[in-house]
Amino acid sequence: MSNTPEQPAATVARLRATFRTGRTKPVEWRTGQLRRLREMLTEQGPELAAALHADLGKSRTEAYRTEIDFTVREIDHTLDRLDDWLRPEPAPVPAHLGDDATAWTQYDPLGVVLVIAPWNYPAQLLLSPMVGALAAGNAIVAKPSELAPATSAALAQLLPAYLDTDAVAVVEGGVPETTALLAERFDHVFYTGNGAVGRVVMRAAAEHLTPVTLELGGKSPVFVDRDTDLTVVADRLARGKFLNAGQTCVAPDYVLTDPQTAAALEPALTGAVEALYGKDPQACEEYGRIVNERHFDRLTALLDSGRTVVGGDSDRTAKYIAPTVLADVDPESPVMREEIFGPVLPIVTVAGLDEAIDFINDRDKPLALYVFSESEDTRRRVAAETSSGGLGHGLPLAHLTVSDLPFGGVGESGTGNYHGRYSLETFSHRKAVLDKPLS
Ligand code: NAD
Repeated sequence: MSNTPEQPAATVARLRATFRTGRTKPVEWRTGQLRRLREMLTEQGPELAAALHADLGKSRTEAYRTEIDFTVREIDHTLDRLDDWLRPEPAPVPAHLGDDATAWTQYDPLGVVLVIAPWNYPAQLLLSPMVGALAAGNAIVAKPSELAPATSAALAQLLPAYLDTDAVAVVEGGVPETTALLAERFDHVFYTGNGAVGRVVMRAAAEHLTPVTLELGGKSPVFVDRDTDLTVVADRLARGKFLNAGQTCVAPDYVLTDPQTAAALEPALTGAVEALYGKDPQACEEYGRIVNERHFDRLTALLDSGRTVVGGDSDRTAKYIAPTVLADVDPESPVMREEIFGPVLPIVTVAGLDEAIDFINDRDKPLALYVFSESEDTRRRVAAETSSGGLGHGLPLAHLTVSDLPFGGVGESGTGNYHGRYSLETFSHRKAVLDKPLS
């Protein structure tokens, strides 16, 4: 065998040939592959956790909780329900077709799909879409992020050792490799990452009329109502914001609240950060690092956007930025002009709920929106009067751990969704069938 890497066209042709044999269609192949993926995660969890630590300083606990065990749960959820989900769904037949006609929908796999993952949860965000693609009976080209090189290398080595290599291929690389892949015809492209590249992906897919799922990001706001228990709010906000050093697509991006609540929230957040990471978060094993110098420099340039409540210090050699809260932040300041995607939490004051709703609606539709309020009316109004990919009352991030909820954005934060049954929908064609007997 030659050591020359297979060209994208050859990879896709090889996978398409496998798909054409029908090998990936039986439910036994699908569940078999899901079980093998589960075995990979349990047997090779330590290797993956080490790679995640090398790439992002992720602690072992966090690596398991947010990447390895997260994906195992998604697999178990799917394995438990796949037979049910795949059952053809009968549809009532109109009278003009006669009593003997029947109709139903059935899920057909799409063919060869491309999954492109980002660096921030580099294992989960490659493997969790793959769970859906395998459950739906597709062949897969998986493209991990080059910005998480240790995890990319580990996945490129492990996935072929566990999965059917005639139907699943891993292609490592950056822009040139991904550009070459995107020139090929796929039956679906599932992309997670930023909106600029999302546009590149959608344009390339349009050449082949290939449908896309775009899991993008943006600024996810938090509204904190007056008269809420700020100790609880601060603890939950800090956990959600500073997980993975703020490099989470659904992390709370900024806080909107009235001036009085903001003043009381400041010491509460300082207390919460200290309780989570101690007085010196750099020494805390549970606190992660910024992925690379480019993002480090981008983030440290945002630290002057307001008055520092807690944090503010950084160490470029260690790619460390302290969990930071900024107050008195002007809505036009740099930190409010782009998705932060790092451990900086600005507090912007508004007069109250009406202004907060206007503030949110004046901007791109966010991937997530969080509300801390005891008031039914406030919660109902935010739900009814704003649009976001997901909405979390009282607890950031957690909605995406509910496998029965679709996870995805709207508008600038993405198109399409996945998780659980929604992944099967994403990676299948729902075929309409009518059967009228000949005699
Ligand atoms: P990234 O730089 O790792 O890019 C993502 C993928 O796109 C990589 O595999 C990369 O190789 C590929 N890529 C980069 N440039 C390309 C190009 N010109 N052509 C083709 N492919 C290219 O990750 P990122 O974009 O920095 O990720 C961060 C962004 O992703 C944030 O905006 C975040 O909110 C978003 N995100 C969204 C979700 C979600 O589930 N909705 C999850 C994580 C991250």
